[in-house]
Amino acid sequence: MHRHLAADLARLPELLEATRARATDFLAGLTGRPVVPPWRAPEPEPLPEQGAGLHGALAEFAERWEPLMSASAGPRYLGFVTGGVTPAALAGDWLTATMDQNPTSALDQAGQQLERLTIAWLREMFGLSPAHDGAFVSGATTSNTVGLAIAREWLGDRLGVHVAADGVGALGGRVRVLSGTPHSSIGKGLAVLGLGRRALTEVPTLADREAVDPAALEEALKAAAREAAGPCVVAANAGTVNTADFDDLLAIIELRDRYGFWLHIDAAFGGFAALSPAHAHLVAALDAADSICVDLHKWLNVPYDSALQFTRHAALQARVFQNSAAYLGPLGDEPDLIHLTPENSRRLRALAAWFTLRAYGRAGHAAIVEECVAGARALGRAIADIDALRLLAPVRLNVVCFTLADDPAPERLADLAADLTDDVFVSPTVYAGVPALRAAFTNWRTTQDDCRRIAEALSRHVPRYASTEIS
Ligand SMILES: *Cc1c(COP(=O)(O)O)cnc(C)c1O
Repeated sequence: MHRHLAADLARLPELLEATRARATDFLAGLTGRPVVPPWRAPEPEPLPEQGAGLHGALAEFAERWEPLMSASAGPRYLGFVTGGVTPAALAGDWLTATMDQNPTSALDQAGQQLERLTIAWLREMFGLSPAHDGAFVSGATTSNTVGLAIAREWLGDRLGVHVAADGVGALGGRVRVLSGTPHSSIGKGLAVLGLGRRALTEVPTLADREAVDPAALEEALKAAAREAAGPCVVAANAGTVNTADFDDLLAIIELRDRYGFWLHIDAAFGGFAALSPAHAHLVAALDAADSICVDLHKWLNVPYDSALQFTRHAALQARVFQNSAAYLGPLGDEPDLIHLTPENSRRLRALAAWFTLRAYGRAGHAAIVEECVAGARALGRAIADIDALRLLAPVRLNVVCFTLADDPAPERLADLAADLTDDVFVSPTVYAGVPALRAAFTNWRTTQDDCRRIAEALSRHVPRYASTEIS
């Protein structure tokens, strides 16, 4: 054994204690540090020949890299859609690495059984019936891609070909994926799957909305039928990233009864509306989908590398993702998890989710959702009161989309966002052709005090960007 490995093994409890202390210090300083510190590239580091041992590595990391890390686990990092990490989820994640299980096979089944239990809990939490099988994947992009892969197999069945066996060419290019405001990951998934980004047709939305117009969707389905384009996939949206808008799922399901398509629903963060009595109606019809994407590293507040993929068509899923090998055993009625997703070996993703659900239950996670919604509302009201800012959409759930009232040029918005990074991190976007900023609330730590601090920072910085300066 290399001398540093031997030494670290001999001092493991002490070294883990030192690591714990670093983690605790970081978390204690989370609300004090800039939300995104200014970037300055550290000196390049050559590949270490002998290394410095864990103690040396900790010291080096603390000095060089830790100060550059953002407070993305903290309460005012509202860019992208970025959840935090609950205390129990953090503990679960630590133990995931500690135990280093590979939960994909019944030959060593504790990890796999814990995943199945956690999936059943989450299925219930999102109001889904047992007709949906679930699987843990690395994020919503992979979840969307897996859903579309199962859809691809289903399309093959409709056309009398076997895509998993014969390749995507067997479909003859006749694939159409219809969506109102698809997340960018849908195009990426289509590229990966050989269906091609051009398979995606964006269907007009309702006026001043990101939700698909059901009448326009029906027209698109009729056009596909006229052109004998074969069955379609509809990628419906339950929570768009700019304005948290929801497609009318009931109207889409009614269209499916008439036109027969695969219904995939991207409910990456919007699925959590199921936890809020005032918003649950938005996803009440989720169960009818053929495949569903829900992200866990966003609103469940588990660390990165966690999402769920649900489908009513597990047999088709196993046809795509089966990984037959002599030592892995037959597929059977309940295929091992290795046969359901792109990865083979992987970490025990469910453990962080199991911990946070066991620790805080449905009610604790419902409270996170409600507090985030209240935070978004509060920020929305504050922005409405700042003359130089304009809300671009009502705050429907947890996202606030706003811009400069005059001349919202992308560079001015980027400068404003950069001015704000001590207090809040927001992302640039374009909504209905207008450059904008958006703040997404998904972190369990965010309080009304944080919202006041953000509003105060906006009031302080925005006047510099008002085109008629008052000073
Ligand atoms: C975040 C998000 C995705 C992609 O999620 P990743 O976890 O980044 O892969 C897909 N769809 C929606 C609606 C999202 O919000």
